[in-house]
Amino acid sequence: MCLSTPTTATDTSNGDTKSGTATAAATATTSCSSSSQCPNAAACNLKPNQTPTQFDCNGNEKSLDSSIIHRKTATKDTATTNDNSNTSSSLGYSEENAVYKEIQKSAKDSKDAIATEEYKPKIRWPDLGAQLFLHSGAVYGLYLLFSAKLYTFAWLIITIWISGIGITAGAHRLWSHKSYNASLPLRIVLMFLFTIAGQRDAYTWALDHRIHHKFSETEADPHNAKRGFWFSHVGWLFLTPHPKVAEKRKVIDMSDLENDKVVMFQKKWYIPLFAVISIGMPVLTPWYFWGETLWKSFWICFTLRFTLTLNAAFFVNSVAHMFGSKPYDKNISPTESPFVAFVALGEGWHNYHHVFPWDYKTGEFGSYRLNITTGFIDLCAKYGLASGRKSVSPDMVKRRAQKCGDGSRFLTDEFAHKDAVWGFGDKDIPKDDLQELAKMK
Ligand SMILES: [Zn+2]
Ligand SMILES: [Zn+2]
Repeated sequence: MCLSTPTTATDTSNGDTKSGTATAAATATTSCSSSSQCPNAAACNLKPNQTPTQFDCNGNEKSLDSSIIHRKTATKDTATTNDNSNTSSSLGYSEENAVYKEIQKSAKDSKDAIATEEYKPKIRWPDLGAQLFLHSGAVYGLYLLFSAKLYTFAWLIITIWISGIGITAGAHRLWSHKSYNASLPLRIVLMFLFTIAGQRDAYTWALDHRIHHKFSETEADPHNAKRGFWFSHVGWLFLTPHPKVAEKRKVIDMSDLENDKVVMFQKKWYIPLFAVISIGMPVLTPWYFWGETLWKSFWICFTLRFTLTLNAAFFVNSVAHMFGSKPYDKNISPTESPFVAFVALGEGWHNYHHVFPWDYKTGEFGSYRLNITTGFIDLCAKYGLASGRKSVSPDMVKRRAQKCGDGSRFLTDEFAHKDAVWGFGDKDIPKDDLQELAKMK
């Protein structure tokens, strides 16, 4: 078995080459069970005691840095006050790939294996109640929409879109992946928009999302798609998490967000902010400005809106982990889904995103039409509000697709028939082939 990894990221703004966090994140689920399955024989032809992460999928030597450190907590636990290297070492993450360690540990540690067997998810009734309330309320809101004012319908669409940008450009691409830098005014705006969406505070959202990438589709993945469509779609929000999820929540490096005052302000004041920004503002606006009834406004502009944006985000965890092509790495579950890209403002290019999670575009192709979030970030960059957009070089993408992809990248319009020839005499026939043909005469 080998685990494969891209190793570097290119910062399009300044040409810096980086490795580290994003590298390790992209390794999360890339694996192949035999050397024949992996195009990189060097990475797969391993002796029993050989570290399987010495080479990445491109055949490069892997960085030994680990992005996992023990996160500082408010308590004065001695383990949390050690320096990062000591702590990560004591946790066994100092050198090898974290996911490999995770798999190895669960296989070797019999106690852990027993604990895993004993884990039975329990329903968290308040969370299930909240989901039932939102979804049944959304159906009622949809019914009321037919008798609502036109402005209320327009307001519903506007709040869905702007809160969606708060999720995609804010909680996801900025705070979870650090794929670009945002100025203070932009961070405040994104935090406001993200709070409208009501999807918990950005710190908690980003923590679970980093775990999702780093331990994708292992027991430590909060919405592990291997547990089925409905679990990854919504079940994970009302079932008790696997113990390994709780374990990993303590070790993911969140120091960057702990130093972000906007993030920590929202985390501290989340409940009142949610009440005012996610319920009060969207519901009172139609009532105050164009005389919509408060009753209709609540069911349309809170429950229906909230549930639609929730499900758009849920699709990324379910549909985009199950249905679609895998042009960049066929060994992982995330897929390319134009449908999800449409409903989630560009977040459906998920096979690419899991391979190159630091790319602010979260996709190689896709116009702004199917990646509105990228358009938004580019617009912000144009006006100096965003900078340091990280991306990936075309060569790196091509190498990865050639070595690990399912071949579908080369069937896209950009590549289709590039190497095809019309017959004998076509100048694109490879020289080697021509030489062999000459010998056959
Ligand atoms: Zn992501
Ligand atoms: Zn994913």
